Amino acid sequence: MGELANCPRCHAIFMKGAATVCPACKKKEEQDFQTVYAFLRKKQNRTATVQEISAKTDVEEKQIRQFVAQKRLHPAQFPNLSYDCEKCGTSITEGRLCQNCSQDIEKGLKQLQKNEGLENRKLEREREKARTYYSLKNEQ
Ligand SMILES: [Zn+2]
Ligand SMILES: [Zn+2]
Repeated sequence: MGELANCPRCHAIFMKGAATVCPACKKKEEQDFQTVYAFLRKKQNRTATVQEISAKTDVEEKQIRQFVAQKRLHPAQFPNLSYDCEKCGTSITEGRLCQNCSQDIEKGLKQLQKNEGLENRKLEREREKARTYYSLKNEQ
């Protein structure tokens, strides 16, 4: 059973199953993909950028970038298909962030884990101290 959801593109209400957009938008997306793909398959268009494709095919840049991010269009085949890193705007061809930004995030995460580790050790030491104290007291 699917659940009712708002289509993120046209805000129509639809049954959400495997698809994330409504059937009308899904169909439009497929048509857009076919248009873009047909355009890129022409030898002289192989090296077109996302902006150029958008201008020539009338498919939104955002949609084209989504195809690249979904790996439906491969930068290995079409070398100029890049889009912006969500954080700093650098051109990227996979994922949502450029290498620098994902490294930054990873570093941040590691730092967080390290801090948590220190915090845990401190707690452990305090617990240890409390135990020692109690056992000394009980021995007296
Ligand atoms: Zn829709
Ligand atoms: Zn970035």
